[in-house]
Amino acid sequence: MTRRVGLLGKPLKRRHSQVMHDAAFDAAGIDARYVLLELEPDEVEGAVRDARGPDWLGLGVTAPYKRVVAELVDEVEPDAVAIGAVNNVARSRSGVLVGFNTDAPGFRAGAELAMGRSLSDATVVVVGAGGAAHAVVYACLVAGARWVTIANRTDSTARALADRFRDVGQGSVIAMPSSGLVFEAALAGADLAVNATTVGMLDPGMTIPVDRLPATATVFDLVYVPAETPLVAAARARGLKAANGSEMLIAQAAIAFERWTGVGGMADVMRAAVAPLLADPTVRA
Ligand code: NAP
Repeated sequence: MTRRVGLLGKPLKRRHSQVMHDAAFDAAGIDARYVLLELEPDEVEGAVRDARGPDWLGLGVTAPYKRVVAELVDEVEPDAVAIGAVNNVARSRSGVLVGFNTDAPGFRAGAELAMGRSLSDATVVVVGAGGAAHAVVYACLVAGARWVTIANRTDSTARALADRFRDVGQGSVIAMPSSGLVFEAALAGADLAVNATTVGMLDPGMTIPVDRLPATATVFDLVYVPAETPLVAAARARGLKAANGSEMLIAQAAIAFERWTGVGGMADVMRAAVAPLLADPTVRA
């Protein structure tokens, strides 16, 4: 029996996850496939019910279903509860479905690789306050960041995000406007500046004025299509360390794969498999 992991979402425009997981199944000698399930909202409950069957290893979950799936599974792990989003589901041998979140550990792996140091004690500026920003801010605070500043186009959402994580970790978390002198002062003290918005994906825009960052700062852009985002290009031109979101994408996939199969260490296989897609300039967001 060929087993399956299904990705629930709508629309499902990208094949990056499928390419990584299918390569890992092949490399591990596991008879399974990663299938894309582009579903209408009223089809999601049935798909989660089906995933209790023995032919399923689990589910991946993407927009707009990360919250609703949390309501449909049997258990949700504490990190996913705190972040407010389930982006993967593992099926136990007895058919129990457990929701978890790999964006936070994936971000931590990618950001620490880009920085060449731990997030512990770091001063971080995060631009964005959507689903990905929740995972980023949570990961920073759990890793022991000293200061996390959140700035978003919509100020009220940034404030709500800061309030949500006020008591996580030892560090301080504050919200501020995403432009102006106060924002620039925060950037001037940053070890790490993160773009957790969609800006740069389909447009030439940038959320972080890189000339305000110190020479020691690292820029991390969650966007991974195009391969060199305008923000990453500007940061590199200034001589800063900079990375796009591809290592986060690979790290979170490898964590999920290990949960579904018990097989770890698949990041290199996944990186090699997804490299052509990541480098293909015709693949749009
Ligand atoms: P989301 O929940 O829709 O949030 C979008 C965010 O972008 C909001 O903060 C929004 O601000 C902001 N934004 C959108 N357009 C903007 C503009 N023109 N100017 C300024 N801010 C703007 O999306 P998400 O799920 O958090 O995803 C954010 C990005 O992270 C996406 O590019 C996604 O592909 C990427 N991501 C990457 C990985 C990875 O593994 N590398 C994982 C997850 C997500 P408002 O609140 O003001 O609307």
